[in-house]
Amino acid sequence: MSKEQQPDLEAGLLNQLRQKQPLLWLNDGLQDDVQPTPGLDPAVAEQRLARYSAPLTQLFPELAATGGRLSSALQPVPKAQSALQEAVHMPDPARAGRQGQEGGAWLLKRDDALPVAGSIKARGGFHEVLSLAERLTAEAGQPIAQGDPMQLCSDPVRELLGRHALSVGSTGNLGMSIGLIGRGLGFQVAVHMSADAKQWKKERLRRHGITVVEHSGDYAAAVDAGRQEAASSKTIHFVDDERSPHLFLGYAAAANELVRQLQEQGRRVDAEHPLFVYLPCGVGGAPGGIAYGLKLHFGRHVHCFFAEPTAAPCMLVQLAAGAGKPVSVYDIGLDNKTEADGLAVGLASPLVAPIMAKMLSGVFTVSDDTLFQDAYLLAQQEGILLEPSAAAALRGPLWLCETRSGQDYLAARGLARYMGHATHVIWSTGGSLVPAQEHAKFQARGARR
Ligand SMILES: *Cc1c(COP(=O)(O)O)cnc(C)c1O
Repeated sequence: MSKEQQPDLEAGLLNQLRQKQPLLWLNDGLQDDVQPTPGLDPAVAEQRLARYSAPLTQLFPELAATGGRLSSALQPVPKAQSALQEAVHMPDPARAGRQGQEGGAWLLKRDDALPVAGSIKARGGFHEVLSLAERLTAEAGQPIAQGDPMQLCSDPVRELLGRHALSVGSTGNLGMSIGLIGRGLGFQVAVHMSADAKQWKKERLRRHGITVVEHSGDYAAAVDAGRQEAASSKTIHFVDDERSPHLFLGYAAAANELVRQLQEQGRRVDAEHPLFVYLPCGVGGAPGGIAYGLKLHFGRHVHCFFAEPTAAPCMLVQLAAGAGKPVSVYDIGLDNKTEADGLAVGLASPLVAPIMAKMLSGVFTVSDDTLFQDAYLLAQQEGILLEPSAAAALRGPLWLCETRSGQDYLAARGLARYMGHATHVIWSTGGSLVPAQEHAKFQARGARR
């Protein structure tokens, strides 16, 4: 790499990133004033998802329990909280007497248990595939967006959708989501998998009649292959994880669900009751959409942080380098090699990064060892089984409350004195479809210290 191509990152930060030292980076570009991006209204996605709740219940019986709505629990994790807080306090004798639970409540948002897809990708996936079904049926003169929504499960509509194919590039979970939802609605589906995709995901997709194309390259290469396949055909539709506004808005619709759950649990969000949300980030669509929806709702009272692998901090690198041109983790000498499914992404979404440039509070990085340890800790303390990537956000509150840069963030906003009634939402993102054998391997690695 020549000197001219060096991304414009501060030398100390660049050094730490290259050495894969976990760190919390704060976003200087964060603005207090929150503006929606024209054309991106989360209410559109909420209404679309609500409209099809009845046919979706028929097509996906797992949705019956929630009346055809996607939703996941918001669950306190007090034992994991205490265990991690104590571990962090130990080295400092002056603080050894402090008990856990100070600094507010830790809640786990259980998108690892979302129905159908078993990961956060269910949110974007349902909205993307429904939007496409609306467009194709409208173009064919049988618009399902008008009249009875149950037309979605009618024979003529299924036949029509069956003449179309979805194509998607994925490290695994997006393929599972688009594959299972797309097949459910009657589409043909081809999933282009990157080299790091897990064997069991490929097998599961094939069992559901989904074509799996294996690639030797990384996530971006798999996406590219899917894009090219679709470009050559009128009946193949590419689901673009790097740029799709439909995926983004599907994720953003999660914000209102969280708003309702916080109300139900009696947790206020205002100037004296700050809300902190920690989200695992791959290309940025899922965490970006959710952060966007939450910022539109709570404004400066919600503080969103992304968690990224030390080997693949693509959003951090893009935001720290500033707007203008795409900068990847390869550009700073990282290899994008991580066990964190869904997070092994070298280049951030060009749709999402500019939006996050103004809304995101910061990004912290996590080593693979910590992911496995934290997946183990959650299983031991709370009986919750996650895939390692889904545990990436667990230490967010510690980064904020227990490190110099985190405390600087709180001090700059006069938040330190309100932390006793803060709410920390740790977004968990995948795990419920992972076979028991795979969980056993994750746990064994996490148990080794
Ligand atoms: C995809 C994924 C993410 C992140 O979503 P992006 O839209 O890629 O940023 C986080 N966790 C899991 C388990 C995922 O599959």
